[in-house]
Amino acid sequence: MNASVAIGIDLGGTTLSVALVERDGRMLASRSTPTDAARGPQPVIDKMVRMADELLTSASLDRSAVVGVGVGSPGPLDLDAGRIVRAANLPGWIDVPLRSLLFDKLEIDVVLDNDGNTAAFGEHWAGAGRGYRDMVMLTLGTGVGAGVVLGGQLVHGHFHNAAELGHTIVAIDGLRCACGQRGCLEQYASAGGVARRAIDAIEHGQSSVLTDNDTEPITAERVADGARAGDDVCLHIWDEACRALAIACINIQHSYNPECVVFGGGMSDAGDFLLDGVNHHLAAQRWSLCDDVPSLRLAELGREAGVIGAGGLAWRQSLDC
Ligand SMILES: [Zn+2]
Repeated sequence: MNASVAIGIDLGGTTLSVALVERDGRMLASRSTPTDAARGPQPVIDKMVRMADELLTSASLDRSAVVGVGVGSPGPLDLDAGRIVRAANLPGWIDVPLRSLLFDKLEIDVVLDNDGNTAAFGEHWAGAGRGYRDMVMLTLGTGVGAGVVLGGQLVHGHFHNAAELGHTIVAIDGLRCACGQRGCLEQYASAGGVARRAIDAIEHGQSSVLTDNDTEPITAERVADGARAGDDVCLHIWDEACRALAIACINIQHSYNPECVVFGGGMSDAGDFLLDGVNHHLAAQRWSLCDDVPSLRLAELGREAGVIGAGGLAWRQSLDC
């Protein structure tokens, strides 16, 4: 049987997704389930294998039809060894040789990459970054995941941690981040950071429309809605998020000089309200030496960017061989 699909796996802290991905970036089938990461790596790896086999059976395929397996995982990772060094949202997953553990079960080549990178590769291959040579993606979710694609290739860096753009500093002596630094982008512009800032403002006694409804949790989506409605607290936090993203985009412009920056994750659900806010601050600060400011775009693949990109990396690896 000729290889016709790649298996893409997105290993998240809460959700595990597996998909069959065709050579043109389309998903043939997919499935998601709670990761249950606290039970340790082996049960999760067994679940990956079971889900992949079930998807193949449902598509009337067997493992001989699989070109390769791509896995997006939280990091930091040792890409040469195919290991998870330590993953903040996978408790107890320290020094896990994920690539060899999966290969032992599936006997199919496995490529491992950071989840921010797989999402970026997915959007570049089959989403908002299609047709661009050079693209940066920021996934604005619980934290900020990121990936840099230059000349069609993901940038990894010597220590494999390139593109940790969520921890680039946008405010000197700013908010403390769990990573140990201060002023990281993800404290200001992730969906989690925006919600946290709103909760903090209310706990400090500021009045806001957010307190009108105390049955719903405070989320970035509600902060965006409040900002649209003119609520001062929400407007301030949303505007700071947009300003932090504009500063990040300027730093990205001067570091990588991409054609576009793609925003994904929960914050991007605000659509043009997010793009307009960031563009407003970009226009206020843009440099004047030449016109090379990247265009801003919204991600197109939603939650599927990671599995599609992971499958894409498996296709890329097989074609490079
Ligand atoms: Zn940080």
